[in-house]
Amino acid sequence: MRMIVIGGGIIGCLTACRLRQQGADVTLIERGELGREASWAGAGILCPIQPWLYPDAFTELVQHSLNLYPSLQAELFDRTAIDIEWQRCGLVIPFFGDEPHWQAAIGWSQRFGWRIEQQEAAEALRAEPTLAATVQRALYWPQVAQLRNPRLLKAVQRWMVQLGVAVRSHTEVRRLLVEGGVIRGVELDDGGHLTGDRVLLAAGSWSDSLLQPLGKGLTIRPVKGQIVLLVTKPGTVRHIVKHDDIYLVPRADGRLLVGATMEDVGFRGGNTVAEVHGLLDGVMRMFPGLAACEIERQWMGFRPGSPDGLPFLGAIEGVAGLFVASGHYRNGVALAPVTAQCMAELMLDQPPSVDLAPFSPSRMVDFSNGLGYN
Ligand SMILES: Cc1cc2nc3c(=O)[nH]c(=O)nc-3n(C[C@H](O)[C@H](O)[C@H](O)COP(=O)(O)OP(=O)(O)OC[C@H]3O[C@@H](n4cnc5c(N)ncnc54)[C@H](O)[C@@H]3O)c2cc1C
Repeated sequence: MRMIVIGGGIIGCLTACRLRQQGADVTLIERGELGREASWAGAGILCPIQPWLYPDAFTELVQHSLNLYPSLQAELFDRTAIDIEWQRCGLVIPFFGDEPHWQAAIGWSQRFGWRIEQQEAAEALRAEPTLAATVQRALYWPQVAQLRNPRLLKAVQRWMVQLGVAVRSHTEVRRLLVEGGVIRGVELDDGGHLTGDRVLLAAGSWSDSLLQPLGKGLTIRPVKGQIVLLVTKPGTVRHIVKHDDIYLVPRADGRLLVGATMEDVGFRGGNTVAEVHGLLDGVMRMFPGLAACEIERQWMGFRPGSPDGLPFLGAIEGVAGLFVASGHYRNGVALAPVTAQCMAELMLDQPPSVDLAPFSPSRMVDFSNGLGYN
């Protein structure tokens, strides 16, 4: 059976690897360079922001995915000698006043078996000495991990080629070819056709543009996120620290990511004064001692936003052989291992390791649950 994967982000590339590992004939098509969009731009935090707000099925999907990371990391290192810098650095949420979520966060952690520690101000400052002294208390999750996205992508791309996936970069899919309710392949930007029995749409924020002409749009749309990269001495910030809409992610070499905005501005790219100012203002409030840090660079990416914050994983009803894995929104790196595993299983007619019904493209989307882009 001939498989086509559209999109060379983390979702498309890792799924192509899993399909190929099971012996499928796989071609992956990417319109630009592999892995240069959202998957490259993300912060690499392996835990949803405020997971207690999500339905239980989402937590279960995330947990399954995160449990796959240690073996994926080892597998990638073994095959490619690239260290993706997966590390359990822990995550801290400082509280400076009466912010909500304290009880909800503890309740969720206990229910799902995530280790959590409640810290008084002195303890929080011992753990994170450069935090603003106005901190009153903090919650600390020691098991939360991070990785470096560009390294993950480089490793997965190298592995994909080793496995024998046929990669066609700088080639855009213009149209899905459907005949009598069955997928036949794709039309490319040079007018050529590529035939396939199964097609996976993993085109991130751009996925809907290929589904809409079939009347199958899923209302996936871009949510822009800007990030600023600071240079610090290694160990200045020791954990991922999150407060309000801002998080800091310390890399092992001292680089410190500050992210990320949430902007509904279509595909308008670039970094902007107001949003970068907002991020840096958050740094100054949380870590005033970082005022003299050098700014190395800034960038942005388009999260594939979904209306209820949940990904779309599964078959497209009414088009036999067409599958989608998109709309991962703020959690695509965390969810990549389980997505690749389950989508490969589905496309090879095997039962998926996790029940994907809550993420079906045909589900009743709850547009008002407050987790999506609206
Ligand atoms: C600022 C920011 C911070 C983030 N932080 C985190 C985080 O900490 N943790 C986390 O888990 N997630 C995070 N995310 C979200 C995560 O990055 C995304 O959910 C994930 O990368 C989506 O992967 P993808 O492969 O679906 O999309 P993408 O990486 O965008 O890949 C889609 C690919 O499809 C290609 N494509 C599109 N149309 C076509 C076509 N017609 N033909 C051929 N190719 C096409 C595109 O060029 C692109 O390369 C963050 C995202 C951003 C932007």
